[in-house]
Amino acid sequence: MTDTYGILIDYHWCTGCHSCEIACQMEFGFAIGQGGIKVFEIGPWQIEGDTWQFDFAPVLTDQCDGCANRALAGKQPTCVHHCQARCMTYGPLSELAIALADHRKQQLYSL
Ligand code: SF4
Ligand code: SF4
Repeated sequence: MTDTYGILIDYHWCTGCHSCEIACQMEFGFAIGQGGIKVFEIGPWQIEGDTWQFDFAPVLTDQCDGCANRALAGKQPTCVHHCQARCMTYGPLSELAIALADHRKQQLYSL
């Protein structure tokens, strides 16, 4: 039995640079505004004192095919490869699930 693969996004470290979006758009030739991943901005708003809500949350869309052709060639998904902050990890879901339990502000996608 082969492992199902996924992408773990540790958005605590996401800078909102949009490189993942652009890399996906260029790889697949998606139209402007479309793509396999979109980066959303949450905040900023003040919670209390010096504590602020301000995050960037990358989300996979229905146009993501998990970079199936790259996976067959033994390569990482192009969004993961181009992530400037190295906050995206590609691997077997069983391994990523262990890392997911480590701290908050992470999202795990099955491909
Ligand atoms: S895995 Fe591939 S298709 Fe999916 S968002 Fe990343 S670059 Fe786009
Ligand atoms: S490339 Fe990485 S750091 Fe930049 S927006 Fe995407 S997930 Fe965040």
